[in-house]
Amino acid sequence: ARSLVDGYLTAHPEGGWLDPLSTADLLEGYGLPLTTSVWARDEHMTVVTAAGLRRLGHEGKVALKAYWPGQVHKSAVGAVRTGLATDAEVRSAYREFTRRFGTELAGAVVQPMAAPGLELLAGVVQDRVFGPLVVLGLGGTATEVLADRVARLAPLSERDLTTMVAELRSAPLLFGHNGGPAVDLAAVRSVLARLSRLADDFPELAEADLNPVIVRPDGAVCVDARVRLE
Ligand code: ADP
Ligand code: MG
Repeated sequence: ARSLVDGYLTAHPEGGWLDPLSTADLLEGYGLPLTTSVWARDEHMTVVTAAGLRRLGHEGKVALKAYWPGQVHKSAVGAVRTGLATDAEVRSAYREFTRRFGTELAGAVVQPMAAPGLELLAGVVQDRVFGPLVVLGLGGTATEVLADRVARLAPLSERDLTTMVAELRSAPLLFGHNGGPAVDLAAVRSVLARLSRLADDFPELAEADLNPVIVRPDGAVCVDARVRLE
């Protein structure tokens, strides 16, 4: 992780967003549960990769995300297609990306579809005065609308891990309401603890954004992660 961060900042002294491969290397090195993600460089490789990943996906389906360097939002600009079940669907989604993003397009990221669950966000932001904060909130499409989030200074204590979850307005969704099952709270706490360690080890980590982390009674998996170094 140290050599990845140093290497990036030597090549980009002004800082910036890591590409998907480096992002996965860094986060998986800290044990964060990212879904399988393969960066395919062209239409043919995308179709072949999707065929290979399909059987790992919920109901045998994959998600496809257009990739170009420096991208910030994806679904807002039509760069995310989910629930693709066949070669033909993958091919036509890739062609649509080509039409929409033109020469900027640098391939696609292929992922197995995660089983549905509650979408949370987890991340790290830097406070100018206090340093790194670990953030937990309601994620996915509800992120901006509901703005339900809590933040704590890193490093997090055991107590922080518990109180962060409890302080969300959406906490009842995690604890199980109307007789529904609770999500895997140990998996949520583990994500927060690992982000805290990462933030503590790397002052260069300007921002980490895992959104969504899809949580279910049987675990948590992140299908979208971004990391900015400075
Ligand atoms: P962005 O946040 O940049 O718009 P995401 O990669 O987060 O793009 O995708 C948007 C939404 O699509 C996610 O919040 C999630 O609901 C869904 N999604 C994306 N990838 C997957 C996946 N692999 N499995 C299941 N759902 C996914
Ligand atoms: Mg996202």
